[in-house]
Amino acid sequence: MRRQRNVKIVATLGPASDTYEMIRALHEAGVDVFRLNMSHGSQENIGDKHRIIRQVEKDLDSPIAILADLQGPKLRVGTFANSSAELAIGAAFRLDLDPSDGDETRVCLPHSEIFAALEPGSNLLVNDGKIRLTVETCGEGFANCVVAIGGTISDRKGVNVPDVLLPLTALSEKDLADLEFACQLGVDWIALSFVQKPEDVNEAKALINGRAAIMSKIEKPAAVERFDDILAVSDGIMVARGDLGVELPVSAVPPIQKRLVRKCRAAAKPVIVATQMLESMIENPMPTRAEVSDVATAIYEGTDGVMLSAESAAGDYPIQAVQTMNSVAIEVESDPTYAQIIAGSRNVKGSSIADGIVASAREIAETTEIKAICCFTQSGTTALLTARERPGVPIIALTPLRGTARRLSMSWGCNCVMTNELGRFKMAVIDAARAAREGGFATESDLIVVTAGVPFNVPGTTNILRVAPCDERLIFSTDPG
Ligand code: PGA
Ligand code: MN
Repeated sequence: MRRQRNVKIVATLGPASDTYEMIRALHEAGVDVFRLNMSHGSQENIGDKHRIIRQVEKDLDSPIAILADLQGPKLRVGTFANSSAELAIGAAFRLDLDPSDGDETRVCLPHSEIFAALEPGSNLLVNDGKIRLTVETCGEGFANCVVAIGGTISDRKGVNVPDVLLPLTALSEKDLADLEFACQLGVDWIALSFVQKPEDVNEAKALINGRAAIMSKIEKPAAVERFDDILAVSDGIMVARGDLGVELPVSAVPPIQKRLVRKCRAAAKPVIVATQMLESMIENPMPTRAEVSDVATAIYEGTDGVMLSAESAAGDYPIQAVQTMNSVAIEVESDPTYAQIIAGSRNVKGSSIADGIVASAREIAETTEIKAICCFTQSGTTALLTARERPGVPIIALTPLRGTARRLSMSWGCNCVMTNELGRFKMAVIDAARAAREGGFATESDLIVVTAGVPFNVPGTTNILRVAPCDERLIFSTDPG
């Protein structure tokens, strides 16, 4: 599906978007990556959505990335006798392991290991931070707290403990089962929630064993602190602003977003800015000016993708939300200031042959009348390096591997096209020219840049750059060898 923009759109599927018609309409409106949230919906339901997406992909002949988002070690309180209780500021409130229904004096927190990690003064945030409990005394299996910010607490509300490195395994029993299920379905990306350290990523990596790429969600202060090490072992990053804004002051989120987006680009790994981007569109067909500005800001920063959560999963206007992101992206990317910002933040000088070739490809494309950079890629690395350059012309990523085409759908600017297994470079140039013409990127009288690694079946050998005509007869008559 040819897009008029480089930044990618990720949309979460849910009850508002689980039919073939809706998923197809969302893809046609601009969704490049569908996110399946394992926190909601049975495996059967997730499997149904996966099957529909693959059908749409087949019917439209357009590679689509599927991201399965694991719930992770999300803490929740137990239940209340009347489903809820009112907590008054200054009141005492106890958390313990007793599974019986709670009231305004106590409730169960069914995670014994958490109590061991708490200290007097630790804060527990309930229900997206709306309620704050401060620990006064604690011991094995209990914490006596004082209510610092009061309100209504109800059944199974989420709990965040920002100040403490939690002794939790990164993958719960449910996550282990969901991870295996998602891998067997054949999803392209797996998102890990509440990552705290690189070991958490490595643990999942060993289980995934190359079957999917790994996106680490940065939503805890500990993950921000160890970001460089987490990035090094991840394939991509999500700036998960929802939980991040609970665990840290909300005002800390924008600078973190900026820093993470820059670091991901430098590492040539895709980064997604997520949560509350168009929150008011859950209920309204029009976004607020502030939301439009937020989406635009993320794009100006150079993010690979912007994400919809409840807007597309449970809102009344999923298509309009995608259309809004699409038109904001087109507007921002045609602003000369965008090109300046992107060029100004291009600060990587890699030292490999591939680094030299992708930088040269961009320079040639921007110096002369070139319509597209076509890169042949097996693992996807050459396309990722080309995307890091953020060139001013479209990138066409050509690959014989469907998994590579799908994964690259997450990355800035990558228009993914399937090719046959390649033998000779001349035939590859013909394939590239055809992809550029058929995708509407170039006509017969145009020129393209083609990069590749020859021989084709050896990964990591990017070593050729050719400026080629799109006219097949000319490709033959100008072929150097
Ligand atoms: P979630 O993650 O939607 O799974 O909570 C995103 C976020 O926290 O921002
Ligand atoms: Mn989250």
